Amino acid sequence: MNINHHLDDATLVSYSAGALSQGMALVVASHLSVCPQCRQRAELNDAVGGALLESLESESIADDMLASILTQLDDLPLAPHSAVYDLSHKTIDPEVPAPLREYIDCSLDQLVWKRIVPGVTYYDMPWEGRGVSRLLRIAPGKAMLAHTHNGNELTMVLRGSFSDEIGRFCRGDVADLDDQIEHQPLVDSEEDCICLIATDAPLRFTTLFGKLVQPITGF
Ligand SMILES: [Zn+2]
Repeated sequence: MNINHHLDDATLVSYSAGALSQGMALVVASHLSVCPQCRQRAELNDAVGGALLESLESESIADDMLASILTQLDDLPLAPHSAVYDLSHKTIDPEVPAPLREYIDCSLDQLVWKRIVPGVTYYDMPWEGRGVSRLLRIAPGKAMLAHTHNGNELTMVLRGSFSDEIGRFCRGDVADLDDQIEHQPLVDSEEDCICLIATDAPLRFTTLFGKLVQPITGF
């Protein structure tokens, strides 16, 4: 897989710290599962975090306090990225990244897609929480509505490709966007473009039509 667009440092650090929403963590884990380059950066972050903890240990944290912190860490529920994925009972569809197979037990084409507008359908991840976490499927030649973000938006391409103001995004690429960017992704592949998307706050549509359909799209 030839990957050209990667995760931001800030996103990787938040991921290592377990600070991302479940949906955002799923996109990060899915990209890491296909991108050795980002995996290496994530491991480096973990190593730096570990070294920091060690230096704190020797200098300023009393032994019993450290023990208490470590116990608390042990008690924390596993974040999606640290879960061990038992895939033995799953159908292996190479289009679906391993972390996503925890939630999708079939191929992308077998999912029950819900229509937003002609040419745009979605499949929601089975959890509630801040922001949106869903698969979005857009027909060739269709554009997503122009929007900016109140928070961050993470998009990973699973099939097809799209282009926007930043560049062209193909299978495996992630668009890691903050609230400074307005963009309008246009599908430029001959097949549908299917993306895994997560936001940590509602999108802000910049067109009147976008504002009108916002209650319907749920973004
Ligand atoms: Zn990467």
